[in-house]
Amino acid sequence: MALISCEECGEKISEKAESCPKCGAPTKAGKKAQKKARVAKRGNTQGVGCLLILLSVVLGLTVVGAPVAALLFIVGFVILIAGLLIPA
Ligand SMILES: [Zn+2]
Repeated sequence: MALISCEECGEKISEKAESCPKCGAPTKAGKKAQKKARVAKRGNTQGVGCLLILLSVVLGLTVVGAPVAALLFIVGFVILIAGLLIPA
C-alpha cells in the first residue's frame, strides 16, 4: 500500500483513501470515484427517460395505447432533459 501526500495539508495518506482523514480533502482517487458516481447517476436518469420514450413509441403503434403513449413520451422526455440539465 503506497502513501501519497494530501494536496491540502500534506498529510501522508493511503493512495486508496478517497479523502484525507486529517482535513477531509478529497484525494485523486476520491475525485475519480465521485466523478464516476456522478456519471453513473446521470446515465441512470437518461436510461429511464430513453426507456419511457421507447415504451411510448411501442405503445403508440397500438390504437388503444395511443393516449398512454403520449403521456409516457412527455414524462420520458422531461426525465431525459432533467437528467441532462440537473448537475448531479
Ligand atoms: Zn489533508
